[in-house]
Amino acid sequence: MGKEKACKNCRMVYEGSSCPNCQSTDSVDGFKGKITVIDPENSEIAKNIGIKGKGVYAVRLK
Ligand SMILES: [Zn+2]
Repeated sequence: MGKEKACKNCRMVYEGSSCPNCQSTDSVDGFKGKITVIDPENSEIAKNIGIKGKGVYAVRLK
């Protein structure tokens, strides 16, 4: 298993060399909490932290 990291740009949690969501390579290894966003339009948490797409996101970056 690879090491999970979080995109600094959109906060998506992923493994690999670049973010599958925004293609950014700017990432951090440390993050606190993860949320799975299934329905971003109707998720208060997603709105609060500025998420617009489906996926697994870090709640807070270190
Ligand atoms: Zn990203």
